[in-house]
Amino acid sequence: MPESPEVDALAGFLRTHIVGRQIAGLELVEYGALKTRGRLTSELVGRAVTGIRRFGKHLAIDTEGPSLVVSFGRAGWMRWSGEPTTDAATTTTATAASTDATGGAAASTDATPTAATDAAKLTTATTSAPTIAVLSFADGTELLLTDGGTWLSLGLWIVDEPAEVPAIAKLGPDPASADDTADQLDGVLAGRRKQLKALLQEQERLTGIGNAYSDEILHAARLFPLTHATDLDEAQRAALFAAVRSVLGGAFARQRSVPIDELKARKVAAMAVHGRTGEQCPDCGGTVADVPGSKGAAQYCPVCQPER
Ligand SMILES: [Zn+2]
Repeated sequence: MPESPEVDALAGFLRTHIVGRQIAGLELVEYGALKTRGRLTSELVGRAVTGIRRFGKHLAIDTEGPSLVVSFGRAGWMRWSGEPTTDAATTTTATAASTDATGGAAASTDATPTAATDAAKLTTATTSAPTIAVLSFADGTELLLTDGGTWLSLGLWIVDEPAEVPAIAKLGPDPASADDTADQLDGVLAGRRKQLKALLQEQERLTGIGNAYSDEILHAARLFPLTHATDLDEAQRAALFAAVRSVLGGAFARQRSVPIDELKARKVAAMAVHGRTGEQCPDCGGTVADVPGSKGAAQYCPVCQPER
């Protein structure tokens, strides 16, 4: 699932690649992706892209007319098929299958052996994900909206204002962009008899954090994921706040220069505990374990993050 650092990097890519281009059409390969009834894809035709905005894990592609809002859900992503000569990974739908191996290999050149394997595997998965919709531009370039999941989780909205999308309207403060996150985090935690792992992922409370970065934040803060927020002392709240900032800040900085086809793989490769069941904790050498009750979807280090 793309979280705010990956969506932010994608936004940066789109700002340099599609802002200023004129939209020729939005073709829906899967009609179910478009969530706004009564709005026509033709409303976007002939409009120039004027900007890209990120709202938590959502993106808005702004035009002179309506905005196209994209929610990536569990496995949604984008693939750029413009300027095919600059990068082996920028392929069209028709040639994607034949160039997967090239794209995968390119992703793994400067990573560690384990990370390289992960990166190659995931980059291949990303570049071969089925196309759900195609945003085409007057100059012949195309932005492919993809979803690699077993069910469709990518969503599209054509709106006058992104806040018309219910999930965006109820977003909480974004720890990556807000200045006063300490107070906001205190507000998130205050009086909540809810487990930290779940609380960090409540988009209404704190925007942009999902399953993977919440594992990493709790590991950095040395907190057991199933601890209730109300049970934290002041020092632990401060540690959690610092971890939110450092983990997300590090991810934003790291992901910003990564090609969009490699973002998911790089995210996975940078994880200390998430997705690393049975591997060694990089901080203490202990063995990373599944969070109790998570059915293998969440991980922590029992040594660094003891249950008390
Ligand atoms: Zn550890």
